[in-house]
Amino acid sequence: MAHLEGLRCRECGRTYEVAPIYTCEWCFGPLEVAYDHDAIAASVSRESIAAGPLSIWRYAPLLPVDPPTDQSSHVGFTPLVRADRLAAELGLGELWVKDDTRNPTNSFKDRVVAVALAKAIEFGIKTIACASTGNLANAVAAAATRAGLPSYVFIPSDLEPGKILTTAIYGGNVVAIEGNYDEVNRLCAELAADRPWAFVNVNVRPFYAEGSRTLAFETAEQLGWETPDHVVVPIASGSLLTKIRKGFDELHEYGLIDGPPNVRVSGAQATGCSPVATAFAEQTDVVRPVKPDTIAKSLAIGNPADGPFAIDAVRETGGEIAAVTDDEVLEGMSLLARTEGIFGETAAGVTIATLKRLAESGAVRADERVVVYVTGHGLKTLEAVADHVGPTATIAPTLDAFTSAFPDAQEV
Ligand SMILES: [Zn+2]
Repeated sequence: MAHLEGLRCRECGRTYEVAPIYTCEWCFGPLEVAYDHDAIAASVSRESIAAGPLSIWRYAPLLPVDPPTDQSSHVGFTPLVRADRLAAELGLGELWVKDDTRNPTNSFKDRVVAVALAKAIEFGIKTIACASTGNLANAVAAAATRAGLPSYVFIPSDLEPGKILTTAIYGGNVVAIEGNYDEVNRLCAELAADRPWAFVNVNVRPFYAEGSRTLAFETAEQLGWETPDHVVVPIASGSLLTKIRKGFDELHEYGLIDGPPNVRVSGAQATGCSPVATAFAEQTDVVRPVKPDTIAKSLAIGNPADGPFAIDAVRETGGEIAAVTDDEVLEGMSLLARTEGIFGETAAGVTIATLKRLAESGAVRADERVVVYVTGHGLKTLEAVADHVGPTATIAPTLDAFTSAFPDAQEV
């Protein structure tokens, strides 16, 4: 059984019954899942988790929905990769990459969708929908098809072709909107009020967002039930960063890790869409909306719903938020690929480039155990790097041609 007490407003604290709702009727604040913490503490242990499936459902007692019958797509429990070569390039010590490209549709969105879809089915909802910058579109379309449910995925029409194709292939409805993500999101909020569908990141958002906590749970478990000293997380809506921080706190609360977490949380944005980084630099909580203009389209949310909460989490933990240029994003993608053999999308380029910036400024230190979150696969954003990489040489199929093209090629 999911140990839920209800939903609680993050602004005024009013409580609501569990339902597909997301806004406080009193103050319009966002609603969040409220758990029965005693029941969870009594039902979860390192041993019970270790005996579970190799997916997010090993943390079922910590999630706001009972596990689904069909868990065959293995969402989560992705590799935590020790990144010594990248660490050496950046002058860092113990560095790990959480490689969430290794999910069913190659991004961390499979986690949040798995939780939202299970909850939608529990609510008896028959149609699954979302507003997406791309990765969520992939995850919703695939998961809805697997569950045998129709889907409506709303995206900005200027998304990367790779992300449109990898959504449409699953056969649901893909609705390309002539507008930016914030306009797509506004339309979806209107539609969610108008029909009985589950928009996973609108009216089912309180449950959906909880799925991101599994990234913290896995990180700690994969480090032998220890926490990192510092994590670097990309910021789009700000929800992912907020929930990763919450996940580490909960592990401490439930006695799954020794001692308080003390995880510094830092955030990464692209300068072409950096409203949270700007507010952080100006030492305010007021996140002023911007019109996104960056190659990191999966992070291109100009009016981030959880921006103020992300700023709080970063400030409270002593982290930093930085923004990097599109050129740095490309360098970040390349740096990760050539040092660690991991091809992340543009958002990963943002995160790695931010890690580099923070390492140079001393905000991330060589004596810290650092985890960086790579949330989506580079094959989804090929056009970003298409003009920058290619064959080392194009030659005739002869030994001579090879030898003259590569005179210094090693023989061993
Ligand atoms: Zn409220």
